[in-house]
Amino acid sequence: MATIEWRSPASEMAVRQFEIAAERLNLDKNVGGRLRRPDRALIVSIPTRMDDGSVHVFTGYRVQHNDVLGPFKGGIRYHPDVNLGEVCALAMWMTWKCSLVGLPLGGAKGGIACEPRKLSRNELQGMTRRYTAEILNFIGPEVDVPAPDMGTNEQVMAWVMDTYSQHRGYAVPGVVTGKPVDIGGTVGRREATGRGVVYTIIEAAKHLRMDLAKCTAVVQGFGNVGLVAAQELAALGVKILGASDSSGAIWNAKGIPVNDLALYKETNKRLKGFPGGEGISGAELLELKCDILIPAASEMQITDENAPRLQCRILAEGANGPTTPEADEILSEKGVFLIPDILANAGGVIVSYFEWVQDLQNFFWTEDEIRNRLREILTRTFQEVQSTSQKEKVNMRLAALMIGVKRVARAMLWRGLYA
Ligand code: NAD
Repeated sequence: MATIEWRSPASEMAVRQFEIAAERLNLDKNVGGRLRRPDRALIVSIPTRMDDGSVHVFTGYRVQHNDVLGPFKGGIRYHPDVNLGEVCALAMWMTWKCSLVGLPLGGAKGGIACEPRKLSRNELQGMTRRYTAEILNFIGPEVDVPAPDMGTNEQVMAWVMDTYSQHRGYAVPGVVTGKPVDIGGTVGRREATGRGVVYTIIEAAKHLRMDLAKCTAVVQGFGNVGLVAAQELAALGVKILGASDSSGAIWNAKGIPVNDLALYKETNKRLKGFPGGEGISGAELLELKCDILIPAASEMQITDENAPRLQCRILAEGANGPTTPEADEILSEKGVFLIPDILANAGGVIVSYFEWVQDLQNFFWTEDEIRNRLREILTRTFQEVQSTSQKEKVNMRLAALMIGVKRVARAMLWRGLYA
């Protein structure tokens, strides 16, 4: 994404990671030239009626990176920092993620630059429906299937599904995943990403011969991914030492009761002030001594500045792109075992894939089937990445990227250049 329109710190980081993998794979030059850039990038204006009667025009994006393996797939993010470059980076990571775990899907991402917590339900609904209308001709069950990401949830997905269906004239549940179960969603989607993070941690602990019941963990970001990961780890006997959200961080050497913290967050909409721990800064939280650190907030949280001070044994990336390439090198040297984002948080897109398949067939699976299939895919992929890492003598990130990029490149060479 060297072209100026896409340039941002996140897109430069995504391209840098890709280039490291491409060089190592000795990737076809023409394929590499295409994969540095998105297939298509839309910028849309979203006029929205606010509660005071005024009209505010939000800016939204949908970026489709590559669909050689199947329809585009990727979340929609609502956050003030959303911009074209960030969405391009997230779309590229989706391409590698779907490929790595063997899904017949491509990579996309969308978002709106907004502060969702400051919008009323009416404003959020109006903005979501108009955004959907603006990207309507570029999404669909066979084309591009959005899902939740930061700042969006099953209600937002329900509005996307309804708006799309109203335009088509019939219900189209397969246009979006992460919907409520009542309208064609799947059981287990809400928990899928956090649960998947924990399945990969279980594999890492086996590999490192660590007893999880004696381990401690710290979680940055207490949203959909971070909260579920913390709950699932606690259920395995892991002591949760600290957690943070955008309001601040909480720490307790004796362990934080995760369900109490979740209830506090639900009631107060923030972690700050939780009585069961001491308040510390978000930066301090990342540097706490622990066995497992889970960044589950946003990009570039672990950089060459703070990486030397990290004290974890396992770094499991719940978020997309939380670690810069410079920090990767430092952590590798320190012997930190990395579970890279495209593996650690792939549970979300895997269960989204299950939801899409169920919608297309109008045939729904049980929660046990979802859990078992999710675990099977993540365990198999973990082992594939781990053995590639050993065979090629590269870290886990590079191993995962090499597998993901290679599969996409092979498909592109089979399909050839249409001109
Ligand atoms: P969310 O909106 O549910 O939660 C995000 C949480 O992070 C919130 O608690 C927020 O307060 C906190 N946060 C934001 N900035 C922070 C900061 N600087 N320090 C500490 N906390 C901060 O979002 P989510 O769906 O849990 O997504 C989190 C990350 O996981 C994102 O990188 C997203 O792309 C990635 N991810 C999500 C899914 C999914 O299924 N939801 C799937 C794969 C990857």
